[in-house]
Amino acid sequence: MTPSIPATLIAGDGIGPEIMEATLAALDALGDPFDWDAQVAGLGGVKTAGDPLPAATLASIRTTRLALKGPLETPSGGGYRSSNVRLREAFKLYANMRPTKTLIPGGRYDNIDLLVFRENVEGLYMGYEHYIPIDGDPHAVAIATGVNTRQGARNILDYTFRTAIALGRKKVTVVHKANIMKALTGIFLETAYMLHKEKYADQIALDDVIVDACCMKLVINPWQFDTLVTTNLFGDILSDLAAGLVGGLGMAPGANIGEDAAIFEAVHGSAPDIAGKGIANPIALMLAAALMLDHVDLHDKANRLRQAISDTLNVDHIRTGDLGGRANTQRFTDAIVSRI
Ligand code: NAD
Repeated sequence: MTPSIPATLIAGDGIGPEIMEATLAALDALGDPFDWDAQVAGLGGVKTAGDPLPAATLASIRTTRLALKGPLETPSGGGYRSSNVRLREAFKLYANMRPTKTLIPGGRYDNIDLLVFRENVEGLYMGYEHYIPIDGDPHAVAIATGVNTRQGARNILDYTFRTAIALGRKKVTVVHKANIMKALTGIFLETAYMLHKEKYADQIALDDVIVDACCMKLVINPWQFDTLVTTNLFGDILSDLAAGLVGGLGMAPGANIGEDAAIFEAVHGSAPDIAGKGIANPIALMLAAALMLDHVDLHDKANRLRQAISDTLNVDHIRTGDLGGRANTQRFTDAIVSRI
């Protein structure tokens, strides 16, 4: 038997503990490949340790360099800074990869197989924001500063080219708004063509598209794209749009890869509207666990998990409510486990 791989586990907020329990049941059925160190963050961190990103959680990830994370709640408009954004900064998780594949054939869009890469630590997400008070209105003017660097662009673009080539993809498309934000997103576009010419021109094709046109094209004909790579904020939006093409956020996993660690998560949030009801769809977190298995080269286990999910959906026709089915999380999970 191969020894378990040390990894940090953050169940997360809202539906996090429900979908994490489901995912751990599936991993158990695969022979329990990870040796978990359970930690807290987000609202759970505030409640139990008085901190949305406790030092013990950071220390654990620093040691294991590998984590599976449920969704973390972030208050809008005020309160504490996103623990997700802080994790990306702390471990320099510069690459966010979100594969989007059709899991249930016969829907509005069939045979979707898109890879979306998002720059994860720079751009307008850095939180350099402030208000300027005028005439007694403390929020008269709001200012946000985005920062993209040559090195930051090279990091994500190089990772994208390498990964896309390793996965046998044919084309990378850079998504930008360099016609308007000529510096902020122009640097990204310019770096993509430089790097491609320098290292990858004989291995994979490269083209580019403006972000607004990309949204329209994704809705009209998503099959024209193969691998998309873009800056932080555009990537956040485009990857959710892509998730919508294959049945919604409940199906979308994400990998945050960096120099110091790799953190795997569902793309969706803590779904407070359905938390505690036992009806959440655990697929996204299970697929995130499959990406984590791939990351540690346990490809056979990753593929078994993906196949069990696909068979449960399409052979057994067992689905959660968000996919039009009647199974609760427990029944759906039991079905997947029995397929592994
Ligand atoms: P959300 O993704 O939590 O929910 C959007 C809608 O999708 C809701 O109707 C929800 O019920 C549904 N949904 C999401 N996941 C589902 C699942 N697995 N099964 C069935 N239905 C599901 O987005 P939101 O409501 O905008 O955000 C709620 C909280 O989550 C916020 O605090 C936000 O900051 C946080 N959030 C965290 C992450 C993360 O940790 N990676 C990502 C996005 C949002």
